[in-house]
Amino acid sequence: MHALRKLDARDMFMFYDAIVSGSGGAEIEPSGISGWFGREVVVKLTKAQREQVRQKYEGRCAYCGCDLPERWHADHFEPCIRDLKRVDAPNGGVRLATTTPLRPERDVIENMMPACPPCNISKASMSLESWRGWLAGYINSLNSYHPIYRLAKQYGLITETGAPVVFHFERVDGAKGA
Ligand SMILES: [Zn+2]
Repeated sequence: MHALRKLDARDMFMFYDAIVSGSGGAEIEPSGISGWFGREVVVKLTKAQREQVRQKYEGRCAYCGCDLPERWHADHFEPCIRDLKRVDAPNGGVRLATTTPLRPERDVIENMMPACPPCNISKASMSLESWRGWLAGYINSLNSYHPIYRLAKQYGLITETGAPVVFHFERVDGAKGA
């Protein structure tokens, strides 16, 4: 049994990565991928497997720890980037087709984490450590580009803790002694 899901922003990010890194479809303009948004693709997860992923952290996002919304994502913990190929259509046009994952061994349930859409989209195809650094960098971005953030801080409404980014699954697994 296959589940259908719609391509989302994260897929777009991965496609973009595959294109700009030149790993296939290098002649395709990144703007050409926009037509893929919202298309349905086949995901090889049964309903039972999806439920298994959802329950990994008791119905919570493995990263931020929020209660998973109805439309949660099965995130590839180690990114599973799919290559793209250019296909000449009979009408003279060109379309993009996904090929096999570049790292098929990562397309397994053990590598899947339940994630809320904001975390999943933010993580995109980053490794966990890259993403951790990216999240920590938000404070610099807020200070650099958002005057209302600086002002709110000036008035004591916000305190920067300098706390390290710790993911929910790290706290849970740490408490289990895993
Ligand atoms: Zn989350």
